[in-house]
Amino acid sequence: MPDSTTKPAPKKPPATSQATTRANKLARLGLRTDMDCVLHLPARYEDETQVLTIQQASHVGSSTAQVEGIVSSCDIQYRPRRQLIVTLQDDTGQLVMRFLNFYGSQTKQLAVGTRVRARGEIRHGFFGAEIVHPNYKIVLEGAPLPCVLTPVYPSGEGLSQTYLRKVIADAMQKVNWQDTLSPAQLQTSSPHTFQLMPFEAAVRLLHNPPPEIDEGALEDKSHPAWVRMKFDELLAQQLSLKRAQVARRAKNARALSVTGTLSAAFLQALPFSLTAAQQRVLTEIRHDLQAPFPMQRLLQGDVGSGKTVVAALAAAQAIDSGYQAVLMAPTEILADQHFRKIAGWMEPLGIKVAWLTGSLKKKEKLAAQERIASGEAQLIIGTHALIQDSVQFAKLGLVIVDEQHRFGVGQRLTLRNKANNGDSDIVPHQLMMSATPIPRTLAMTYYADLEISVIDELPPGRTPIVTRNIDQNRRDEVIARVHAAAQEGRQVYWVCPLIEESEALQLQTATETYAALAEALPDLHIGLVHGRLKQVEKQAVMEAFIRGEIHVLVATTVIEVGVDVPNASLMVIEHAERFGLSQLHQLRGRVGRGSAASVCLLLYQAPLGQIARQRLMTMRETTDGFEIARRDLDIRGPGEFLGSRQSGEAMLRFADLSTDQWLVEQASSLAQNLLQHTTPENSATVTAHLARWLGGREDFLKV
Ligand code: ADP
Ligand code: MG
Repeated sequence: MPDSTTKPAPKKPPATSQATTRANKLARLGLRTDMDCVLHLPARYEDETQVLTIQQASHVGSSTAQVEGIVSSCDIQYRPRRQLIVTLQDDTGQLVMRFLNFYGSQTKQLAVGTRVRARGEIRHGFFGAEIVHPNYKIVLEGAPLPCVLTPVYPSGEGLSQTYLRKVIADAMQKVNWQDTLSPAQLQTSSPHTFQLMPFEAAVRLLHNPPPEIDEGALEDKSHPAWVRMKFDELLAQQLSLKRAQVARRAKNARALSVTGTLSAAFLQALPFSLTAAQQRVLTEIRHDLQAPFPMQRLLQGDVGSGKTVVAALAAAQAIDSGYQAVLMAPTEILADQHFRKIAGWMEPLGIKVAWLTGSLKKKEKLAAQERIASGEAQLIIGTHALIQDSVQFAKLGLVIVDEQHRFGVGQRLTLRNKANNGDSDIVPHQLMMSATPIPRTLAMTYYADLEISVIDELPPGRTPIVTRNIDQNRRDEVIARVHAAAQEGRQVYWVCPLIEESEALQLQTATETYAALAEALPDLHIGLVHGRLKQVEKQAVMEAFIRGEIHVLVATTVIEVGVDVPNASLMVIEHAERFGLSQLHQLRGRVGRGSAASVCLLLYQAPLGQIARQRLMTMRETTDGFEIARRDLDIRGPGEFLGSRQSGEAMLRFADLSTDQWLVEQASSLAQNLLQHTTPENSATVTAHLARWLGGREDFLKV
């Protein structure tokens, strides 16, 4: 057969490149292995197991139904706009399928006489009973109906449901279905006793649920099959978090073991004594700092609970032990305030404090960097400027990050890595602070390996803040109150509306509010601070406010974090309905810091949406940050609680932390058990379970 040998090699069939693009598209959905496909579970289902007559369907109101009929007309119409109108007819009546977008070929496909099964929301429109953009298929008479619900999978561009269904069905033929949990482990007992569904049965059911299934339970994922999936997913996450913790403990850090003269002198010099809660978290932190492996601790405490002094005491321990400590804050205002306060405490004790932010002049910056690199500066306070390449630390022992949720993982890592100077095995201790309280179970699931300390008590002598919600059209009364407060010697914050779409507009509003208040209150000193001011200008305004020379400080949300002026006791927030709960709580936390009774007035623009109403009610009812966090979680779910990139959130596809906290505890308990009792069986379970659920994604948690 000389012919065939001389023939040029056949061109690669186009199918191959099509297969690669499809593989890429699947990969974009995270579907690389057969098991990935099998665990790609439906987002919802369509019930195509029944066909209604057109007459029945016309009476179902505005709900979804499936009908079958013969095309009796198929026309393109041009009024009121170009559209394809197809009439379906069965023995009981007729119904219109209306397509606003369509291909020319559809007029042929839906030619008169064709039998069509169509599914969609029945409406009573211009043409009588109709379905706009139905799902439809051409069928032969008597074509069987599916006997399971039709899954609808999360999809991406260019991947049809039909294709996904096929890929998943193929994968289901190939995977190893072996349950990662033993029968004994399926019977959970701690903290709740219940029976988990076997893995294979659960997965198969979710891909092909029988029509008699409780659809509500499928939809809200309370069905035992979903519970098993969520449990597995949470177990993988808990295993992975706990292993990250073990790995951290295997790393080295400098043991900051001395709490000596500086710490003692500092405590002595403080104008107040620590609250019991501050004392407790300080003990936890001190204990961690003495260990030869890196601390990774989150210090949570409501606004005004006194986190700064605890951070300063942690820094004192590092300095006492001969190392540097660095404190990074997300804004210049906040860094500046920390610097004043902490330098005010420490410099009299002979400690050298350096200050580094982006707004320093080049010469000052170089000088600060020089002091940091030489080790002369013992405590360094600043903003993001601290993580620049040009900053080198002589011997960094402790990294403190204030308002840590404002930073990305990358930024925190960069700062942490600066301590490695020459010795890459040594990791500094890390203390992160946040005034956004996170419910414990949420923190447990969200954060990569992190210990948590909570200050759950405010310093004494604070008077509770009274909050009122006031309609915007009573603004004049509010201005009168501001005037009265100022005359009593109290100071006022006036927060301008948040305009997310446009910084320019936000600025304009702030300037206008400032002008309007200056005009309405000619005998008062009004100040204005916003993000666009130069640092020195901002600082000058803040200083005048701290000195009491400014009565009313008009501000954009730049004052949201950390600002501390105890004499300010009235806070007005305009368009409060535009702010999130935690933001409102943070803003309100600027008052109620002194001994005067404080008031927060939330001006809103009616009418209020449901969520805004709930938020404002919550603000009126409570000032407890943890309670507010819990309600926030109820109102909007855990989504924005934390920067998602620094969390284990991305690992969770099915579990919903606002409803599944009980499962988190369950999974955590089993994970603990599996890792503690290192029998070969348990190790095998851990390996198999992590491989099945995380594949290569485990690295995500190592930061
Ligand atoms: P936050 O936790 O919001 O960062 P700060 O650290 O700014 O709070 O503290 C708020 C105010 O309370 C500061 O003026 C601080 O000096 C003061 N403070 C902190 N601890 C105590 C205490 N134990 N007794 C009295 N005042 C305290
Ligand atoms: Mg603070």
